[in-house]
Amino acid sequence: MFEKILIANRGEIALRIQRACREMGIKTVVVYSEADREAKYVKLADEAVCIGPAPSAKSYLHVPAIIAAAEVTDAQAIHPGYGFLSENADFAERVEQSGFVFIGPRPETIRQMGDKVSAKHAMIASGVPCVPGSEGALPDDNDEIIKIAKKIGYPIIIKASGGGGGRGMRVVHTEAALLNSVEMTRTEAGAAFGNPTVYMEKYLQEPRHIEIQVLSDEYGDAIYLGERDCSMQRRHQKIIEEAPAPGITDKQRQKIGEACAAACRRIGYRGAGTFEFLYENGEFYFIEMNTRVQVEHPVTELITGIDIVQEQIRIAAGEKLRYKQKDVHIKGHSIECRINAEDPFTFVPSPGKIEGYHPAGGPGIRVDSHIYQGYTVPSHYDSMVGKVISYGDTREQAMARMRIALSEMAISGIKTNIPLHQELLLDSAFRRGGTSIHYLEERLAQRKKGN
Ligand code: ADP
Repeated sequence: MFEKILIANRGEIALRIQRACREMGIKTVVVYSEADREAKYVKLADEAVCIGPAPSAKSYLHVPAIIAAAEVTDAQAIHPGYGFLSENADFAERVEQSGFVFIGPRPETIRQMGDKVSAKHAMIASGVPCVPGSEGALPDDNDEIIKIAKKIGYPIIIKASGGGGGRGMRVVHTEAALLNSVEMTRTEAGAAFGNPTVYMEKYLQEPRHIEIQVLSDEYGDAIYLGERDCSMQRRHQKIIEEAPAPGITDKQRQKIGEACAAACRRIGYRGAGTFEFLYENGEFYFIEMNTRVQVEHPVTELITGIDIVQEQIRIAAGEKLRYKQKDVHIKGHSIECRINAEDPFTFVPSPGKIEGYHPAGGPGIRVDSHIYQGYTVPSHYDSMVGKVISYGDTREQAMARMRIALSEMAISGIKTNIPLHQELLLDSAFRRGGTSIHYLEERLAQRKKGN
């Protein structure tokens, strides 16, 4: 096992990774920007290295500074967390070339999954169900494009192969708008992602977002840890996640889970990963794979009892998977609310000093957050300041515990989205379960109209 790991991230996930390391008896090196000097995990680290000023481009995305920090501290491995450099194949390559272990998949895998056309090819070859669409990139021939769209049937969506973060997509409802939309998406994709390749898919109208968590070792073993429902989203940002997904049967879980595990074996996947699907009318449609730990990983940890971050570290250290599929048992229900420093009605970010802080607690409550009373939330990064995760024997119990936890929790000095979560926990459609990815936006539009 590693003796020392460098954590190349910040905020709650830096603390989460640090907790996993400390539990395993591994020393931690934390890198931080000038804006994060006062963070809790910086103080708790065995060693901490300032890697630059507040802007991410000069610190958390600055590869030479991170590699140098690993060198001077003699760290053996680098955990990238999520966001920042976590899905950057060039970074993973640099880490390995510099003699460190990258806690994640091989760089080739990150590259293959980062390109949506090649990811989809790999999934089709592995038997993972995909959204019906063009076979690979769209050709240059306009007549061909029209033919492909006709065959798929409108509405369709044009997507950039190099796209990400919900950008580089355009929905097309009629043939009249088709060619112009393809052209515009190509131009935008070329400018934004340096890759003008686009492809086409059937546009699903009321899907849910359901994803499968996997773990895969270097020796060709792969397991799935069930699914998460992350349909509660605003502007493609998830805000509430839960596991298991309401209404998914054991049989469905097994079928899609096994397809994902088989894909991991086929592509030689290493580490933790997530297969994201849209789910509509009882069918799963692959949209992309995330080759890193996800924000919402705790809900899976609570229903399976498996520590995903510790498993990532064990796999990276060359250990064999400790669990067989038959050892994975899903028990109870878990919900996660992402706590953002923002106005709960206008969504304007609300960084600043936390004057008062009282976290939630009690049975079945886990709080993953780096904040404390007197901490200043910097304005330079994502507005998420933590996550409250509840567990219960049933979905109802997990919801009740979350309601109580949020009513106890007090954060003053900055605004947070806790009131929005409280509203949603009382929402009848959410309480029934199974709302689509458009539900929150529609509900917010109603709220704006005063209904
Ligand atoms: P990104 O990498 O930018 O997140 P995704 O392929 O994951 O791109 O798609 C982002 C979001 O766009 C999805 O969560 C979904 O809301 C929407 N979307 C993508 N493909 C489709 C589709 N075929 N039909 C309907 N919505 C889609």
